[in-house]
Amino acid sequence: GAGEVKGQVLVIGAGPGGYSAAFRCADLGLQTVLVERHDTLGGVCLNVGCIPSKALLHVAKVIEEAEHISHAGIKFAKPEIDLKGVADYKSGVVKRLTDGLSGMARMRNITVIQGTASFIDEHSVIVNHTKEDKKTVVKFDNCIIAAGSQSSKMPFIPHEDPRIWDSTNALEVKEVPKKMLIMGGGIIGLEMGTVYQKLGSQVDVVIRGPQVMTGTDKDIVKVYTKANEQRFNFMFKTQTQAIIPKEEGIYVEFKGDNAPEPKTYDVVLVAMGRSPNGLKIGLENTNVEVDDKGFISVDNQMRTKVPHIFAIGDIVGGPMLAHKAVHEGHVAAEVIAGHKAYFEPKQIPGIAYTFPEIATAGLSEIEAKEAGINYEVASFPWSASGRAIASDVSGAGLTKLIFDKDTDQLIGGAIVGDNAGELLGEISLALEMDCDAEDIALTIHAHPTLHESVGMAAEIFHGSITDMP
Ligand code: FAD
Repeated sequence: GAGEVKGQVLVIGAGPGGYSAAFRCADLGLQTVLVERHDTLGGVCLNVGCIPSKALLHVAKVIEEAEHISHAGIKFAKPEIDLKGVADYKSGVVKRLTDGLSGMARMRNITVIQGTASFIDEHSVIVNHTKEDKKTVVKFDNCIIAAGSQSSKMPFIPHEDPRIWDSTNALEVKEVPKKMLIMGGGIIGLEMGTVYQKLGSQVDVVIRGPQVMTGTDKDIVKVYTKANEQRFNFMFKTQTQAIIPKEEGIYVEFKGDNAPEPKTYDVVLVAMGRSPNGLKIGLENTNVEVDDKGFISVDNQMRTKVPHIFAIGDIVGGPMLAHKAVHEGHVAAEVIAGHKAYFEPKQIPGIAYTFPEIATAGLSEIEAKEAGINYEVASFPWSASGRAIASDVSGAGLTKLIFDKDTDQLIGGAIVGDNAGELLGEISLALEMDCDAEDIALTIHAHPTLHESVGMAAEIFHGSITDMP
């Protein structure tokens, strides 16, 4: 028979959403059980997502900068790449963080069970232990589902071939394919492409639409694309027609207006989105509402249709981002502890850690237009930034702010350029604090910095309504 464990709160999944929720529950005095099917805590983000990809992008960035500095009279030899060293560096970064999480769970007396949870009814799950032939029933007063997502699989792609990769395979850095095709022009595909191109791969990117990063404003994307025309062979408005594993490689046929001739690749990386895990956790034994894709519907307190069952993170839809999951996790935990908490953010930042980075927060111009807002854009090109010029990054940078013309309030912002992800912080805070153009323009920004460009953009807008005729 199965053993039994009871908790005031059961959290399913130990990704950023789940561990944040579990930690907050424990900190609020709730007796908490955390079930995770994998060996380590941290979910996709720490193990096979945000963190390992950034460790590899760090390596790639150093190579990029070593090449770039030739513009300033310094020449390094071609890098010698020890792939195992790169993989070890990445694994070390991941291990340090996942070990840290285990320690924090222990400190909080959270009961961690390693296994796969499935609902039996609305007050219990059965956990199939991963490593032993053992089952545990966990009974709970409240549950937070944080079971996340996984790479989408497509019926027309022979995923079983080891040369067809998803992001998890790419993060293993076991080999550097000579010729690589990336399917999809989203963040994950572009980040992994950036890494492999720097390690020596020739990278083609096939994109169904007319631009990378669908949903991002054209002026921002244009700066990125222009800076990457040499790095990647972008195939816009193109789709794969057939993907056929052959002995010499993966043979790919294309279709679309500009479709090239068929080509053979050593590796094809599929980066065409992620699917939520909502259909794999026994929700049919509850009244929790889940759509046919696997997304669970929740209200602004992260509550499902069953009042004591909550859901957070990738599994509830919205941007599939770690920081969103974390904030939702905190809300769910606080609501369970009896607090009046709501998930009603004014902005959720999104960052592509590409070369250069693309960072956005609040509304895009496309969204402002759709919402019928009387808006105005103020942009500051980095070609006019002293710091950008001194650092040799002025050729690919733009800081863009979007203001509501009726109130002067900042409603969105985007930065493309070196370190854009770090620079975005000011825009996120300004949006959350309901800043208007004057607040930002009158803030003294240090000179010479890249973040000065945010102040400059605000001054362009603010100046245009006060100083100019
Ligand atoms: P997950 O992290 O998916 O965690 C869910 C956990 O639940 C997993 O550990 C899983 O094993 C476990 N689980 C699932 N089902 C069960 C079950 N039945 N029983 C027990 N356990 C279960 N986001 C960013 O914000 N910034 C980035 O830079 C970034 N980079 C990324 C790079 C890559 C390559 C990828 C793939 C993703 C990246 N993301 C990034 C997205 C980010 O990883 C996710 O948004 C985030 O991990 C979602 O957190 P979560 O808690 O909802 O779920």
